[in-house]
Amino acid sequence: MLFKDIPGLEEIKTQLIQAVKNNQIAHAQLFLSKNGGANLPLALAYASYINCEQPLENDSCGSCASCSKNDKIIHPDVHFVYPVSSTKNITGKDVISTNFLKEWRDFLLNNPYGNVNQWTMAFGGENKQVNISKEESRQIIKRLSLKAFEGKYKVMIIWLPEYMNGASANAILKILEEPPERTIFLLVCNDDEQLLTTILSRTQIVKIRQFDDNEMMQLLIEQLEVDATKAERLAHLADGDLDEAMILIEGSEEDNHDLFRSWMRLCFTHDFTNMVEMAETFHKSGKVVQRSLLQYGLSMMRESLLATAGATEMHRIQGEEEKFIENFSKVMTFEKVENFNNLINDALYHLERNANAKITFMNLSLQIARFIK
Ligand SMILES: [Zn+2]
Repeated sequence: MLFKDIPGLEEIKTQLIQAVKNNQIAHAQLFLSKNGGANLPLALAYASYINCEQPLENDSCGSCASCSKNDKIIHPDVHFVYPVSSTKNITGKDVISTNFLKEWRDFLLNNPYGNVNQWTMAFGGENKQVNISKEESRQIIKRLSLKAFEGKYKVMIIWLPEYMNGASANAILKILEEPPERTIFLLVCNDDEQLLTTILSRTQIVKIRQFDDNEMMQLLIEQLEVDATKAERLAHLADGDLDEAMILIEGSEEDNHDLFRSWMRLCFTHDFTNMVEMAETFHKSGKVVQRSLLQYGLSMMRESLLATAGATEMHRIQGEEEKFIENFSKVMTFEKVENFNNLINDALYHLERNANAKITFMNLSLQIARFIK
């Protein structure tokens, strides 16, 4: 990953590059962005830049030995720790990052903006709760104590340190504060409120904003080959969350809109017979369509909220959708939208964890029906 592979965010890139040029690289940094943000890609690009043999003015060279190893995620001095859980083949003390390295490389190469649920699916974690264990912390210390290295710096990237429990977090406090010579910790975090203050206080925080609409469009068009019109709409709907945009790409927008509208009508009129029927259809439609419909629901809620707040100039929806939002926002309040968002996020979480889709959808519909009217 090079800086140029990440659209925009120039101010953050400049800040990171300048620190390297000034020889002022903080030894423990917290890359903080919301879900679907660029914190992990930026950490990867930064790790490449730090060890690049012929760095350019604004990026790594992309062709030296160090860069080409980083490109394949096989640089011996760039270490990774990430949340994992036991699988069919890996259990007990073996549940540590190094035993999932192949899956991790594939995951980073395919989708460096992916979330923890997608990662869990990718390594086959089934329904178990992932974490970063105390054993993992022991491994961090062990891996960093190995002397030989070929790069200028050793970099330890800890993805989602919020998945460390108290014991595992405490176990790395000392090394985080006084790392071995030329060692840099990059903690890549989505939710700093979940971190122990002792961890937070030992890191320099690098806040990374979400992509703006133009940056998101650029990424969708150039890297995901979405056409310009669709990219503009998706960028707007996803509101800076690339993860969400990718889910929306998978579904057809017209289908989503028709389905969502019919669904809300059923909830509003308490039409339970047809709701059961729709739950069955939802069940049969498969994961991609299910996720896409629910994500679409979230984006429609955001539009309703804007409409409720009278900020109609901020939303750029047209035609059928605009009419729908106009009517829908009349029955929505801020509390209802928040409630709706929480319910949908819960449903998405359960679906990712292989909950029964029919039951999940039916439960969701009943709860929406209860408060929507
Ligand atoms: Zn290079």
